[in-house]
Amino acid sequence: MNQITGLAKKLETLAKAQGAGLFGVADLTPAAELITQQGGEALGCFPRGISIGMPLSGQMVDIIAHQDNPHYMKSYHHHVYQVINPRLDFAALNLAAALEAEGFRALPAAASLTTDGKLLKGLFTHKLAANLAGLGWIGKSCLLITPEYGPRVRFATILTNALLPAGTPLENRCGDCKACIKICPPGALTGRPFNTDEPREKRFDAHKCDRHRTEKEKATGSLTCGLCVYICPHGKQMK
Ligand code: SF4
Ligand code: SF4
Repeated sequence: MNQITGLAKKLETLAKAQGAGLFGVADLTPAAELITQQGGEALGCFPRGISIGMPLSGQMVDIIAHQDNPHYMKSYHHHVYQVINPRLDFAALNLAAALEAEGFRALPAAASLTTDGKLLKGLFTHKLAANLAGLGWIGKSCLLITPEYGPRVRFATILTNALLPAGTPLENRCGDCKACIKICPPGALTGRPFNTDEPREKRFDAHKCDRHRTEKEKATGSLTCGLCVYICPHGKQMK
């Protein structure tokens, strides 16, 4: 095992010891322009992204079928944003520290942080890195769909200049399914396949999704929807 393969193995062991069910390395060079457009040169200059995914509790996702129950919806929101996302961020920080200890540059991108309130986007698209790492495909729901957990998994990415061996992107396996498009209450999903040459707006109207969740919050006290996560047959197979 050469030094860089040994480092990749060490990082995977460290990620999994912290609860990451999925670990992969993405070659980001084909997407450098897109990453630079979204996050600037400070992010676009990294040739690799380590993608780590933590699965959600399957039962916790199932309870969001009860959209009108504010107790269930608040429990789900807590599980995702106060339990899973902070765990991901700490794991990403530890992996970045391990890379820096080996003399490499490493930048952990936050699991979920909207930095552009106008476009409702963060600095980096974790699902793009996870797709390039071979952990799943970007489905019609615009979520990263994994063979193991469907969309019931959250991601963080550590950007690095360590030229770790990269995975191969997975082909889209949505087929004829339109379940997420049909269930989306405000019709925010267009069903167009993911394409790095097209802006997200062609596939997903983030403002429609946001307005729907804001209206829900006024009615039930919970900002969460997540029906596109709940309905995906690849996630339901987890059971
Ligand atoms: S979270 Fe709800 S409103 Fe937003 S895209 Fe998914 S199903 Fe549609
Ligand atoms: S619900 Fe169906 S169409 Fe939507 S992402 Fe999942 S498999 Fe693809």
